[in-house]
Amino acid sequence: MSALTLDELETHGGDIDTFFVCPVDGMLVGRVGDRWQTCRCHPELESEWTGDLARLAELCRTCGAALIRSGSRWSLFHCERCMDVWRKRREDGLVTPPFGRHSFMNQVPVDPDDPGVADGVCRMVATIDTLDGWYLAIVQRTIDTETPLLDYLALVEPSSPEEWLRR
Ligand SMILES: [Zn+2]
Ligand SMILES: [Zn+2]
Repeated sequence: MSALTLDELETHGGDIDTFFVCPVDGMLVGRVGDRWQTCRCHPELESEWTGDLARLAELCRTCGAALIRSGSRWSLFHCERCMDVWRKRREDGLVTPPFGRHSFMNQVPVDPDDPGVADGVCRMVATIDTLDGWYLAIVQRTIDTETPLLDYLALVEPSSPEEWLRR
């Protein structure tokens, strides 16, 4: 499950009033208990984390408009609504963005005897850079200054998997 509600953010120690979206790199910055999740623009906020990724929450890389769980290299890049579309496409052997950071998450089991499938494999997963660029464009068309998370969520016009595919 990749969704994270605002209530859950607070349950996990996130102080919603401190969370903002950075327009430079699209990252969510905010206080979580006595630590901060931060972006490269705010190295002064860097904190020790126990998990393998110093974050509690991110925004969906496809729609740019849904809060999702983070904190692990296994965390998904996409909200559940977008993942539904991507999982289905992957099952059908069609192009998707990467599901997450971990290479295992982006490998697709392929029957090497199926010529139709083999042809599409190298195009099946677009790069994380491509996805990051897509996501950052959503953030940057929405805000141009550091903007409180709640304001951002009210402003953003969600993108969609269909738009990503037409990009
Ligand atoms: Zn930043
Ligand atoms: Zn989404």
